[in-house]
Amino acid sequence: MCLSHEVLTAAYQGFLDQLTDAGLLIPSGVPGVYGHSGVFERVLEGFDQSITRRSAHLNAEVIRFPGVLNRQHYLKTSHIESFPDLMGSIHSFTGNERDHLGLLQKRADGEDWTQDLKPTQLMLTPATCYPLYPTATGTLREGGRTVDLRSFVFRHEPSIDPCRMQMFRMHEAVRLGSPEQALAHRGLWMELGKEILNAAGLNVECVVANDPFFGRGGRVMAVSQKEQSLKFEMVIPVATAEKPTAIMSCNYHLDYFGKAFGIHTADGQVAHSACMGFGLERVTLALFKTHGFHPDRWPADVKHELGL
Ligand code: ATP
Ligand code: ZN
Ligand code: MG
Repeated sequence: MCLSHEVLTAAYQGFLDQLTDAGLLIPSGVPGVYGHSGVFERVLEGFDQSITRRSAHLNAEVIRFPGVLNRQHYLKTSHIESFPDLMGSIHSFTGNERDHLGLLQKRADGEDWTQDLKPTQLMLTPATCYPLYPTATGTLREGGRTVDLRSFVFRHEPSIDPCRMQMFRMHEAVRLGSPEQALAHRGLWMELGKEILNAAGLNVECVVANDPFFGRGGRVMAVSQKEQSLKFEMVIPVATAEKPTAIMSCNYHLDYFGKAFGIHTADGQVAHSACMGFGLERVTLALFKTHGFHPDRWPADVKHELGL
């Protein structure tokens, strides 16, 4: 369906107003950056625990990285080629006292003081699984690895769509191993992910998807990704029924990260990888949209599932 820009904008703004009026989202003055109320967080953590409970049989290693990434590791990926518009680079002030006075003067004069900042060793994490691969360089144990991750990630995509945030949390499960193991992981999570979302009363649909690669060359990559069916998303109407939102995705990376970070299987092959990720804020927004803004009035089975 082709929706006019105005209709979509009105739908996003309307849903955003409802969420802020209800106190679930607290606007920061920057599009896509919000505080969350206690009720919002209780629902988000309840869903997160449902993921953990319903995937416990996979015995994944649990690792938590902060939402920042070693700049050198970032540069070993092709993120800067494929998604330059989404990146977040951390800069700070490294000068002396004289430089500091210069910076303050620029600020007072309304000049661009940010030119005086220098890049730190850190980038903001663009996807929760990125910090894992550089730590997996070398040979994997027999059977590969399955890792459970959760972190904040940053994407510079300011929007009035409440579902498109600049900083949000992903809960991921990553598989490192042979092509068969990576594909089996993705297949398993396409089923299990749907089961987990259904248990929370979210009737999602699975669709083939692509990433928003930058520029003209990027369009070719997006088509290729779609043709190879590398990425699937679970979508559900949130702000508008006409343009459903992805609340979880399942990706097969082939040997992309294995090559970039020198990860090998026990039998010496370049490792393949797959990851699945729930967008925790998006799932939470989908729950409020589907069941209403008052969790105490939600269906008993959903409340039970989420421990509410
Ligand atoms: P979209 O197509 O909507 O931009 P995506 O393909 O970029 O989503 P992934 O990179 O696969 O999403 O990220 C994993 C999950 O993180 C998504 O399924 C979604 O639930 C969530 N997510 C992605 N981008 C955002 C965002 N800007 N704000 C909130 N959640 C997001
Ligand atoms: Zn990932
Ligand atoms: Mg995106």
